[in-house]
Amino acid sequence: MKLDPIYLLVTHPTGQYDVLVGAGLLPNLADLAQIRGPIALITDSNVGPLHADRLGGVACTVTIPAGEQHKTLATVQTVYDQLLVAGIDRQATIVALGGGVVGDVAGFVAATYMRGVAFVQCPTSLLAMVDASVGGKTGVDMPQGKNLVGAFKQPTAVLADVSTLQTLPPEEFAAGMAEVVKHGLISNPELFGRLETGDWRLTHQSPISSLQSLVATAIKVKRDVVQEDPFEQGRRATLNLGHTFGHAIEQVSGYRVRHGEGVAMGLVAAANLSARLEHCDPAMQGRIENALQAQGLPTRIPAEFEANAIYQAMFSDKKKAAGKLRFILLRDVGDVFVTAAATENEVLASVTAVQFT
Ligand code: NAD
Repeated sequence: MKLDPIYLLVTHPTGQYDVLVGAGLLPNLADLAQIRGPIALITDSNVGPLHADRLGGVACTVTIPAGEQHKTLATVQTVYDQLLVAGIDRQATIVALGGGVVGDVAGFVAATYMRGVAFVQCPTSLLAMVDASVGGKTGVDMPQGKNLVGAFKQPTAVLADVSTLQTLPPEEFAAGMAEVVKHGLISNPELFGRLETGDWRLTHQSPISSLQSLVATAIKVKRDVVQEDPFEQGRRATLNLGHTFGHAIEQVSGYRVRHGEGVAMGLVAAANLSARLEHCDPAMQGRIENALQAQGLPTRIPAEFEANAIYQAMFSDKKKAAGKLRFILLRDVGDVFVTAAATENEVLASVTAVQFT
């Protein structure tokens, strides 16, 4: 299955790279990503057996165990060990083939191995295509919280081969749709409208041309934001809409709740808090719930996760400034802002309001 790629150029402080969104791209990885030296492939135990053999010319393959619980420094250490044993040097390019976990781990390895080697992303989950693979953030989780250790490492190319989405489990596809809904809310009202009305109710088995269009539309939102603010000193923080709640829910669940599912619940809580603080129409919460439900996403926080535990978990999130929690709130679709002006009681009330009773 082949589909000519859509090229999206991303510029950053030290250069630029293309994001290619198409189908049947992986066999031409070296040409399309203009890789000259050896390729060190990093993948996970689910994706490797399904897709790694489509890539030619790989000098060494490192397979990490699948799952967020393996996005750790211990995993990074095992990757360094295997690259060293395989004799991988600074001429090599590290290629990430997998979801956001592989991309974050492989990117951190590429930023640090031999003081940094070239890096190419081949995202295979919807979430990694529309969000994690673009923007240069890499890193790992610590027992104290998510993504607490990492580095900015820009890829030299991103190949989003949407044909790989056809093996993605449906619940993982839905989790990626949470970030697509988020992108619509941040700055693409037309995209949000299509999701809200059910006009775009895609699944992992949708025609690849529809998947290509969805992925490219969502990537453009992320591209435009990260280009404007590569090191998250301003507008980029808005990409964390729903994430202060979402990361805390993920953490309290012991990572049983997927990242995208946590984000979905977090978007509803953020809308609730926005309305509670009179920034937006109370109807916004229902609109977001409809858009998420249409994609098969959860919109309620499980009752077993205590509101207080979720609140405490928010303090390990990087999105706090000078000890104060920061939230991304909504005024309207396409109009979001960052604020630290929410009290503990207001946050707890919003968590409780969107919990199953
Ligand atoms: P993931 O990498 O755990 O992938 C989800 C599951 O799908 C895994 O079991 C994986 O093995 C499997 N999978 C992936 N592609 C597949 C395919 N084509 N076929 C079959 N199975 C496939 O999780 P994710 O949802 O892709 O990404 C979440 C991670 O991304 C989190 O760690 C999050 O913090 C991170 N993230 C990073 C950024 C960033 O800017 N760096 C942004 C958003 C999210």
